[in-house]
Formats: sequence, C-alpha cells, structure tokens
Amino acid sequence: MDIREAQELMRLIYYQRDKARGVDRTLLRTMQELAELSDAVLRHKGRNEVSDEMADVFAWLCSLANLLDIDLSTALRSKYNGVCSRCHKAPCECVQEP
Ligand SMILES: [Zn+2]
Repeated sequence: MDIREAQELMRLIYYQRDKARGVDRTLLRTMQELAELSDAVLRHKGRNEVSDEMADVFAWLCSLANLLDIDLSTALRSKYNGVCSRCHKAPCECVQEP
C-alpha cells in the first residue's frame, strides 16, 4: 500500500467520523497517538507494539490530512522530492541537524 492508497483507505473508513470530530480534536488525537508511540519506543516495548503505534500515528495523520484536504503523497514529493529539503542532497549533507 502506498501513501495515497493509505490516505484514501483512511478516508473511506473514517472520514465521516473525522468530520464530525473536527480538526482540533483530530489534531489532539494525533498528538496523543504520537505520545503513545513515544512511550512504546522509550519503554522498549516489543517491536509489534511499536509497529502498531506507528500505524496509529500514520492513520491519524491521514485523517488530519483528509480533513484539511491535503494530499500527503503530493506534500512529501513537493517538500522532499528525493532529496533533503534544505541542502537538496541525498544523503543529506547539512552541517547541522535538519
Ligand atoms: Zn540536508
């Protein structure tokens, strides 16, 4: 499944609920899922739990993008286009952490 397919899948499954919840609360849920991912990583939970939390974060990001009418695949290509967004090299050659 590519990014566009994933975003469309989340739209198919969740858009009506996401729309009813609204942008602010969907953003909050996305941040809560990121906190759960952080907890899973920092507490050295198993690979399956970390993987599940990553999927949740991405799914909520897709929901947020759907509500804001942003195509994540296009956004990624536009911002990175195969290279670092700052130094325009691959791999990144930035002196400081980008
Ligand atoms: Zn760079």
